Amino acid sequence: MAAPAEPDVLHALANVTPEHIRYTVTRLVDFRTRNTVSSMDTDLPPNTGVTAAAKWIEQQFRDISDGCHGCLEVKTDTFIQPGDPAPRSRIKAPTTITNVYAILRGTDPAQASRMYLVTGHYDSINSNVFSNWADTSGFAPGANDDASGTAVSIECARALSRHHWPATIVFAAVAGEEQGLLGSSHLAKLAKDQGWQLAGILNNDIVGDDTTPGDTLRDKTRVRVFCQGIPATATPEEIKRTLDLGLESDGPSRELARVVTSVGHTYFHAGTFRPILEFRLDRYLRGGDHLSFNKQGFAAIRFTEWRENFDHQHQNVRMENGKQYGDLLKYVDFNYVANVARLNAATLATLASAPAAPEEVRIVTTSLDNSSTLRWKPGPGTPSPARIDIVWRETSAPDWQIHQQVPPGDAANGSLTLPVSKDNVIFGVRACNAAGQCSPAVAPMPQR
Ligand SMILES: [Zn+2]
Repeated sequence: MAAPAEPDVLHALANVTPEHIRYTVTRLVDFRTRNTVSSMDTDLPPNTGVTAAAKWIEQQFRDISDGCHGCLEVKTDTFIQPGDPAPRSRIKAPTTITNVYAILRGTDPAQASRMYLVTGHYDSINSNVFSNWADTSGFAPGANDDASGTAVSIECARALSRHHWPATIVFAAVAGEEQGLLGSSHLAKLAKDQGWQLAGILNNDIVGDDTTPGDTLRDKTRVRVFCQGIPATATPEEIKRTLDLGLESDGPSRELARVVTSVGHTYFHAGTFRPILEFRLDRYLRGGDHLSFNKQGFAAIRFTEWRENFDHQHQNVRMENGKQYGDLLKYVDFNYVANVARLNAATLATLASAPAAPEEVRIVTTSLDNSSTLRWKPGPGTPSPARIDIVWRETSAPDWQIHQQVPPGDAANGSLTLPVSKDNVIFGVRACNAAGQCSPAVAPMPQR
């Protein structure tokens, strides 16, 4: 059920190249350390440290904006993170943290307030700091973790800024991730406080794959997409209702991830590259910046390579028993990062072209009935008439199996009855444009 590829999206994807990504990751590694705490160092050599890296990223967004007649609003958000004396704290004294982001405003006034955001963390760390939090002197290349994700954000900006999209896209690079998601927490709170209508966040963290010879279990055709089922902000009543209805796999983050699957089918040939949804928040005992957005009530998911190499993550750069440790440039596979960037860019472009997801999606339960009546209202700014699709799947299936376009009259009325038992399937309602680009689906709540 892959939707057809859109010419504008294909043109944008053609601007994503492994050479751009190699350049970005190389330049970020050249700052020697991007440890967030290095923002307080006064004796750094020129062009090293996290502050210099932030300025460089800001300039990249400005250069991209110059290439599209100033289409990006380039912003920095600098704040002082208070120190935390807790024993496990990695930031014990007040520290300056800077997030950098660029906004590509949507071209449809009715839809431009809806936003999608792609982010990576540009800070790095090496394991020196596990014994001394303030030791920022060590080489912390962070080529994979997470110059690769930062390169995805910049590359999406470069590719997508050459075209117009109805809704707004934000390209972000945050810091303080390694000290406890500090930059993303600040950005997510800023978004919430300023009333950003963030309809989806794509976090890219460790998307460089690894080129170490001899690892036969690597798979360069796969990227993991971590997506939480029940929202982090769900109340006990909402959790109970969700479990009662068997909708624990239909939270907004997971529906967002299903869009990534669908976009993957459209823009990648079978067998070349595909997202694998991971139905969990993150890897065991690990976290990432998507969580900061989840906690503010936003749908947010994480992209991470299929198989991490922990010898090349957070490690002090060193040789030990003939083995190289460290997150070095030479291990990043720029072709792989380019595929991740294309998948992100295609997802952002699709979502920013599709209408807003429907609202007040309901399934009528006034009487016992083997058919199903669905009702919905158009999301804000939805062009009229909008195409509505009903999708459904068996309750044990991970992804949508059937989709049916609602006849125009029923779409206008916001209601459709199907000869399918609501007790046997999970339904979703999504809004689409004429080209077949669709919003995330919304699972219906019962209407008595
Ligand atoms: Zn990371």
